[in-house]
Amino acid sequence: MNHTAHTIEKAVKEIADEMRERADRGEVAHYIPELARVDPKHFGIVVIDDHGHVACGGDADMPFSIQSVSKVFTLTLALGRYGDRLWQRVGREPSGSAFNSIVQLEYEKGIPRNPFINAGAIAVTDMILSGHQPREALGEILRFMRFLANDHSVTIDEAVAASEQRTGFRNIALANYMKSFGVIENPADLTLGVYFHQCAIAMSCRQLATAGRYLAHNGRNPETGMSVVHPERARRINAVMLTCGHYDGSGEFAYRVGLPGKSGVGGGILAIAPGKASIAVWSPGLDANGNSHLGRIALEALTKKLGWSIFGV
Ligand code: GLN
Repeated sequence: MNHTAHTIEKAVKEIADEMRERADRGEVAHYIPELARVDPKHFGIVVIDDHGHVACGGDADMPFSIQSVSKVFTLTLALGRYGDRLWQRVGREPSGSAFNSIVQLEYEKGIPRNPFINAGAIAVTDMILSGHQPREALGEILRFMRFLANDHSVTIDEAVAASEQRTGFRNIALANYMKSFGVIENPADLTLGVYFHQCAIAMSCRQLATAGRYLAHNGRNPETGMSVVHPERARRINAVMLTCGHYDGSGEFAYRVGLPGKSGVGGGILAIAPGKASIAVWSPGLDANGNSHLGRIALEALTKKLGWSIFGV
């Protein structure tokens, strides 16, 4: 183990120990009944550096619902298919409002602000669905996740998908509203079916951190040498993660952590230290913006200890 790997390992262990003890854990996502049942005591962290060294702490191998973290990967897939034409259907500016907000859609003619708020992610999923059956589109997303995670055991938690399908009234509204502007091409219920299932993909921190490695290393996995996207595209996805990845909490995340990151209401966060590491944390309790409470605190501690903020030490 080299010097840096040792330093990372020490930082990860310290953080996992500290997070295990903390009383302030936020609130699990109650609006998705299946997620409301998850024990807020969990905490997991995995850091994979440029050499492929894995530092892990806590529940690093326990699968959780990746929810909106999936939006990074569907954006990557859709950019692969449509290139920059994608930006005609969805913007790339922070929204300054909640992940499931509908207000901006009316005065912006159904074009979502960015691909990470729910409306934007539903529009991106609709693009992936076009020309395919929902089963095929979902298969493509799942195969991509398995390929990136280098793990064929990654699956969809059907109970979570069904739970959201039953109760996702806001997303149903968002999709139908966009459909009225012609931003959604497919029948809204089919697009939503794919979207709910992509959000219900279950992965561990280890799998998620592995999957994110191409974003930390100019579009390719340094271990396999496999190129996923062009370096310029990786840089741009990171930029959108930095500005929009935590919804209305993106400014605070940049201020405290200083890395591109994407959160999900399952309590997961994928964070990218460009050139250095891919990081996944998981703690199911959320803050008021729907981002993992301890996840953010853990990442803040990590970047501080290692001097990894992209804005300086
Ligand atoms: N599936 C969730 C929803 O659509 C994803 C939201 C999130 O993770 N922020 O409400």
